[in-house]
Amino acid sequence: LEEGPKAESSDEDEKDMNVPKAIRDERVFKKLKKEADNLQKDRKSLPVYLYKAPLLEAVRDYQVLIIVGETGSGKTTQIPQYLHEVGYSKIGKIGCTQPRRVAAMSVAARVAKEYGCKVGHEVGYNIRFEDCTTDRTIIEYMTDGMLLRSFLNEPDMASYSVMMIDEAHERTLHTDVLFGLVKDVARFRQDLKLIISSATLDAEKFSEYFDNAPIFNVPGRRFPVSIHYTKAPEANYLDACVITVLQIHLTQGPGDVLVFFTGQQEIEEAMDLLSFKTRGMGTTMGELLVLPIYANLPTDMQAKIFEATPPGARKVVLATNIAETSITIDNIVFVIDPGFCKQNSFNPRTGMESLIVVPCSKASANQRAGRAGRVKPGKCFRLFTKWSYEHELDDDNAPEIQRSNLGHVVLMLKSIGIDDLLHFDFMDPPPPETLIKALEQLYALSALNDQGDLTKLGRRMAEFPMDPQQSKSLIQADKYKCVDEVVTICSMLGVDGAIFYRPKDKGLHADNARKNFHKPGGDHMTMLHVYKQWEETGFSLNWCMENYLQNRSLKRARDIREQLVDMLEKVEIEHSSNVNDVDGQRKSILSGFFYNTARLRKDGSYVTVKHPHTVEIHPTSSLFGQQPRLVCYHELVLTTKEFMRGCIEVKPEWLLEVAPHFYQSKDLDGFKGKMPKGQGAASGGFGAAK
Ligand code: ADP
Ligand code: MG
Repeated sequence: LEEGPKAESSDEDEKDMNVPKAIRDERVFKKLKKEADNLQKDRKSLPVYLYKAPLLEAVRDYQVLIIVGETGSGKTTQIPQYLHEVGYSKIGKIGCTQPRRVAAMSVAARVAKEYGCKVGHEVGYNIRFEDCTTDRTIIEYMTDGMLLRSFLNEPDMASYSVMMIDEAHERTLHTDVLFGLVKDVARFRQDLKLIISSATLDAEKFSEYFDNAPIFNVPGRRFPVSIHYTKAPEANYLDACVITVLQIHLTQGPGDVLVFFTGQQEIEEAMDLLSFKTRGMGTTMGELLVLPIYANLPTDMQAKIFEATPPGARKVVLATNIAETSITIDNIVFVIDPGFCKQNSFNPRTGMESLIVVPCSKASANQRAGRAGRVKPGKCFRLFTKWSYEHELDDDNAPEIQRSNLGHVVLMLKSIGIDDLLHFDFMDPPPPETLIKALEQLYALSALNDQGDLTKLGRRMAEFPMDPQQSKSLIQADKYKCVDEVVTICSMLGVDGAIFYRPKDKGLHADNARKNFHKPGGDHMTMLHVYKQWEETGFSLNWCMENYLQNRSLKRARDIREQLVDMLEKVEIEHSSNVNDVDGQRKSILSGFFYNTARLRKDGSYVTVKHPHTVEIHPTSSLFGQQPRLVCYHELVLTTKEFMRGCIEVKPEWLLEVAPHFYQSKDLDGFKGKMPKGQGAASGGFGAAK
């Protein structure tokens, strides 16, 4: 029942314990080797293969090289292998960063296969809470966030001979910070090779930034893609997508379909709708294979999108932005693009951040369209008007660093020893007010002192691979002697996927099951309760199914939990426990999240305490409908309204206790006093899947 790449090999021989181990190993090895031989043929057909020799020469001759090439030309999967073949792996590891964890995992799986090893052996990946590498790993794919973290232990990147900063065009927050760091390391480590690779042509900027490093072009193969717009804006793009998929299936020749959505929930809704619509369509139609791909999709399901489509059938891949440039699926001929993506936005004035769905940029729309032209001429159906493309879409995405909360990154940089952030060599500096806000927030968290220097607490906070708020909550739990409980809560929050499972046809049962887990205090207590109960059943899969819980998410929480527990010792936190001290647990959470508080207004709405802003309790929260006077929330999500997701009820006087730097009595005037009674169960539950 194990899942995940470490246990990926379900090889029959391996299970047959009657066969001596040496022979089993030999058979497994032979099988992998054979697969690898076949794959060598595919490798040679990739555009980058034609440029192997000159590319390696360029790497030899220059310390920093910018590589530009069409998506799918083989940059990510091939270049690290080429470098290995000519011996760079003898000097140190070959690293390659990816902005997304799914990409790091899926590319590592592919390259391991081509190399002929198991993932985690010679070829591995390293993502947050999941290090799938060993001592023998020579090609390592990792998220840009993980490389950034590794600077804490290895500021000179000593274990690497080459580092490839891949997907540089995405300009994620972590990649942008890495630019500055690796540029600096390259100056004093002449032996380190640096490759910056990008899918778009505006490489001049990268070149200029890296002291005029040469640009190496890998011309791609690309067939023409015809673009089709809608005549009028679509009221419901989900419906429109589903209808377009069916139209393509019924009227167009062979070729698979790729549809871009903004997230898991949309993808799941579209899958439901598609299966509903195709149910009555009879058997004359060819088979339609609908496959999702998004960040939290289990590994075995991720691999499915790469399997060849059987003859006569058509594959429809419902993807998030991940399929825009990071992952290439062969055989796509039709692309459906509703024109949206999810972006984080940060308001430096209020310090509030939220995830919002926004129109994508022209650059994105063009990348998406390009995915239809890899194997033959393709078609892209844009579910917006031509006018809208020309007049409403921005040319480019703004770099993430300019619209993010920088708290985490600033804490990281300070811990690495970079103090003068205003003069850090950013390719595009973040707005000064955003930097100042981050410093302010870290000061309020006591991670920095009034001189802006890292405190002992700040140093300990940086040890945990979590946001500063969560790290702070965890460290403060030591004070309230409920470390075990807060570690569990943090682990449950660390699972990006849903904890609760809500199949459409059993919605009512699922909701009831969920309500049974509700605990007074709020959603975090409910999460803790779920985990504790699961633990008591001996981590039972059946129990999860009976209670509409996602076993996979809970297992991931258990993994994260183990790792966090291991880290406690290093930061000298005693592993205390007090399951009944709900106040202590809430005060610990509040110690990190005191920024995120909102109070009840007379009219029943909520307003954030420091910077007045109207918000509401998310309908899936256990506190929904109970109207506590003061709540602390985990995050804001903007859908139809600005919702607080993951809420606990807190007392005003706690704010003065846990955040004296931040709150004064006057902030709390007018709503001190008794908490309302009745914290029983309401509807919903934090993190429920639709
Ligand atoms: P680039 O980085 O230039 O966009 P890649 O190296 O990612 O190109 O992709 C090269 C080829 O490898 C593509 O044809 C793609 O389909 C294939 N590929 C990449 N990852 C996988 C995977 N996990 N399974 C199967 N094929 C893959
Ligand atoms: Mg790539």
